[in-house]
Amino acid sequence: SRMDAINNKGVMDAALVKAKERFEGLKCNLDKLGTSDFGVCLKCKNKIPIERILLAPNSSFCVNCAR
Ligand SMILES: [Zn+2]
Repeated sequence: SRMDAINNKGVMDAALVKAKERFEGLKCNLDKLGTSDFGVCLKCKNKIPIERILLAPNSSFCVNCAR
């Protein structure tokens, strides 16, 4: 139905926005690769554990600050 189509578009748009956010974050982190800013939390300036970077390579915050 038409309503379903509209709802699906909303879901698609939301997914697209999320994907774009992730991509922007990833790009931002890639720019920092090789600099002292890479792997450092933007908020508390603590080192982000490598496990978290591998799990969420698009995140610029440590687990505590990302909440
Ligand atoms: Zn932090």
